[in-house]
Amino acid sequence: MKKVYNFNAGPAALPKTVLEKAQQEFLNFQNTGMSVMELSHRSEEYESVHVKASNLLKEILEVPDTYEVLFMQGGASLQFSAIPMNFLHSNNIANYILSGSWSEKALKEAEKIGNCHIASSSKDKGYSSIPSAIQLSKNPAYLHLTSNNTIFGTQWREFPVLPANVPLIADMSSDILSRKIPIEDISLIYAGAQKNLGPSGVTVVIISKQLLEQCHKNTPTMLNYQTYAENNSLYNTPPTFSIYMLSLVLEWVKEQGGLTYIEEKNHQKAQLLYHAIDLSEGFYTGTAKKDSRSFMNVTFTLPTKELTQLFLHQAKEKGFVGLAGHRLVGGCRASIYNAVTLESCKALVEFMDNFQSNNR
Ligand code: PMP
Repeated sequence: MKKVYNFNAGPAALPKTVLEKAQQEFLNFQNTGMSVMELSHRSEEYESVHVKASNLLKEILEVPDTYEVLFMQGGASLQFSAIPMNFLHSNNIANYILSGSWSEKALKEAEKIGNCHIASSSKDKGYSSIPSAIQLSKNPAYLHLTSNNTIFGTQWREFPVLPANVPLIADMSSDILSRKIPIEDISLIYAGAQKNLGPSGVTVVIISKQLLEQCHKNTPTMLNYQTYAENNSLYNTPPTFSIYMLSLVLEWVKEQGGLTYIEEKNHQKAQLLYHAIDLSEGFYTGTAKKDSRSFMNVTFTLPTKELTQLFLHQAKEKGFVGLAGHRLVGGCRASIYNAVTLESCKALVEFMDNFQSNNR
């Protein structure tokens, strides 16, 4: 099989051992004589997968009992609508921090539902850094932020601590499970699975029971968080195969040594790449401000568009996949989610060094 270094931004690399396990069990899941995809979502066998995924998430992320873990669909993008539909009313104001395209999209959906306020923004800096100086509106429904900006390659190091009555909501699609987080400072976390959690199809939501009580009763059933909480995310047919894959990825994370190990490894990988960029004497330029740099998406440019094209072309020939920057910003991006190995990052650094020597 062709050797590939997968730096895709999502769907992204999955741990090889997880794929192998899924392959082993594919036709005959735990001696049921069926694939996990063929099981009824009401069967005992599927239920154990479902519960395992939920319990492992709680264990690994240290989710307190005062929170619920939900499995939804529609990707992170549907959460952009679900959040204001549940929590934005005629008498409060949704607060958004703009740190990139995904937060802009989240705000756009909230504006269709009610009054919104931009509490902070780094748009004027081309989203090259994490915004500071948060100014909340009066009567805030919540404050929404994007913890890792997949396109611009910036990441919140620490989450803002808000007054007790203001729920913090975090889109953690591209950095959930990559590091330890203070769950109790965040009232709702959501993430599409297709970066650190598994294949696309399931959206994980971690919500405090306190916030759950505030869901608007007129929210459509399938967008109302209470529907999922009250029915163990089995109100209708969940994405069973994605949840099964999630359970395998979570087992892998645990076997690796949990978030302490994962976080340390992610730092090493990111440092390796940023180091290569910083030592390139301006041949490669990191697009994010140093103190805002993401440990998940390393974004950089080359001196000219022609060199960028040549870099991407030669990289592809050598088996490096997914290095083109997002279509909105161009340049290059190496997405180094949990399943991307240190070995892949070392190979990329070596390729970057060689490319620079041959093209300076
Ligand atoms: N938020 C962030 C931070 C993302 O990176 C993405 C996808 N790349 C989305 C939201 C949208 O996710 P989905 O495709 O699951 O709707």
